[in-house]
Amino acid sequence: MVTTTARAPRPTRAEALEAVLGPAPVAVPREGTDLERARAAASTVCDPELPVLSIADLGVLRDVRVDEGVVSVVITPTYSGCPMMQIMERDVAAAVRAAGFAEVRVRTTLTPAWTTDWISADGRRRLEEFGIAPPTGTRPVGPIQGGLHVRCPHCRSLNTREISRFGSTACKAIYACRACGEPFDYFKAL
Ligand SMILES: [Zn+2]
Repeated sequence: MVTTTARAPRPTRAEALEAVLGPAPVAVPREGTDLERARAAASTVCDPELPVLSIADLGVLRDVRVDEGVVSVVITPTYSGCPMMQIMERDVAAAVRAAGFAEVRVRTTLTPAWTTDWISADGRRRLEEFGIAPPTGTRPVGPIQGGLHVRCPHCRSLNTREISRFGSTACKAIYACRACGEPFDYFKAL
C-alpha cells in the first residue's frame, strides 16, 4: 500500500531565489560537516588565468579530506610545468584556513595526468560565456582535413581555424572565426 500523505517540503527562500536567478556565487557555508566546509572553501579558488573557473570546475581539485581537524587537499595541475600551480596551492591553503581550519596540507600530484575531460559541464558553459571555446574531442566529419571542430564562442559557427598554437597561456590556442571574423582563445583538449 502506497501512502501519499507526505507533503513535499516547501522550498526555502534561497532555493526559490536560486530557481529564478540561477545558482549563487560560491560562498563558503558556515554549516555542514567539516569536510563539506573544507571542500567548499577549496572550491572557491580560481585558476588565476581563468578566473571564471574554480579549480573544482576545472577538475584540478582532486581530493579533500579532514582528519582530526587537519585538512588534506590534493590538486592536479593542468600542466606539469604550470607555475600557476604554486599560486593555486597557496590560495587553496589560504581559503581553507579562512574557513576556520588551522592546519592545511596541499599536495600536488601529477598522476594520473589532468585531462580536459575533468572540466565539469558547468565549467565548459562558463568558459564559453567568457569567450573561450571549451575543449572539444570531436573529430571533423567528412573531408575536412586537420584539426578539430572548434566552435566560435561568439557566434557558434564551426567554421573556425587555428591562428597560433599558443595563445595567452600554453593551455590555450588562438583561433579565428571565418563567420564573424572574431579571434578567440581555444582551451586545448588534453
Ligand atoms: Zn564567430
